[in-house]
Amino acid sequence: MKLSIRDLELQGKTVFIRVDFNVPLAAGGQEITSDKRIRASVPTIQYALEQGAGVILASHLGRPKGKPNPELSLKPCAVRLSDILQRPVKMAPDCIGSEVAAMKPAPGEILLLENLRFHAEEEKNDAEFSKKLASLADVYVNDAFGSAHRAHASTVGMIRYMPRAAAGLLMDKELEYLTKVTKNPPRPCVAILGGAKVSDKIDVIQNLMKFVDKLLIGGAMAYTFLKAKGEPVGNSLVENDKLDLASKLMAEAGDKLMLPVDHVVAAELKEGADCKTATTIPDGMMGLDIGEQTVARFASIISASESVIWNGPMGVFEKPPFDKGTVAIAKVVADSDVLSVVGGGDSEKAIKAAGVADKISHISTGGGASLEFLSGIELPGVAALTDK
Ligand code: AMP
Repeated sequence: MKLSIRDLELQGKTVFIRVDFNVPLAAGGQEITSDKRIRASVPTIQYALEQGAGVILASHLGRPKGKPNPELSLKPCAVRLSDILQRPVKMAPDCIGSEVAAMKPAPGEILLLENLRFHAEEEKNDAEFSKKLASLADVYVNDAFGSAHRAHASTVGMIRYMPRAAAGLLMDKELEYLTKVTKNPPRPCVAILGGAKVSDKIDVIQNLMKFVDKLLIGGAMAYTFLKAKGEPVGNSLVENDKLDLASKLMAEAGDKLMLPVDHVVAAELKEGADCKTATTIPDGMMGLDIGEQTVARFASIISASESVIWNGPMGVFEKPPFDKGTVAIAKVVADSDVLSVVGGGDSEKAIKAAGVADKISHISTGGGASLEFLSGIELPGVAALTDK
């Protein structure tokens, strides 16, 4: 177990909170198109303020490649956070240096540092840069689960120079649910994997196979498995260099692994394209979603289970009518009385499109980080936190 912010004495301390303010931007960096990530950090910030701490917030934003770039400034995040909290949020001109140190927030005050990645040293996990970040505060908290799979100065390096490092409330919740479903899941435990490529999820498949009771595969990655089995896949998206691997994974998984038995097929990948459902994919067509029989089979497994891990859409859900399978599975997961943990931006979008987000036990905020966690890898940003 890792130390939580709740275990810290924060009264009169300056706390450095690594947040994930890597928000989508429009209008040359002036407009925040979704403030979801900022809102997700609010409970931790409020908790620290209530405990009497002065709060320093730090994040990366986009890929400025080690140089200042006004289009990737965190200034709009300071303004938005101030609106949300209804209190001032000071903006620092940089993330290190004497000018920033002089802006040290008093108890109850908030200072947002400028984009960490304006310095190449952040991604290089540079020791001197780490020391400079650490010198700004008394205690360290990481609430940026989405960056915990990166060993950077703000997620790993600076912790060496801080007396204690704790998980924020959001990080705590991520670790609690992801640990629950992977270490000792209520059984039967079913994993649903979808998305474009087998190659992106090999480690996840191999690790999940070790402990889940069933592994349901949908999305384009199913076609690499079906082709490896010798089934016709038409023009479906297939990774031809992964056919041997797919055969090996199927042999290892045995009847744990279930593939689609019917498909929504079309001649072109286009919103509103003419389509039909087929059990065998005709030549010249491609599978773009799971069919109704597959939905029914997957649904009966999901509703008989006690825990569900889901990552990746069942079809091209961005382009109706190829969203139906993903939305149907989202509804089944939500309506089943199960511990459900969903990861990855696309699965989250599908859950929201189905209007069932409030019936999912936990939707992970970190796509890459949750995939690495499901692969069984200890995330460097988590490993670096102080043990309880
Ligand atoms: P990933 O990032 O690996 O989770 O993949 C998500 C992407 O996979 C989405 O953009 C989907 O449109 C795409 N996808 C899912 N199923 C299919 C399919 N049958 N054919 C082509 N693309 C698909």
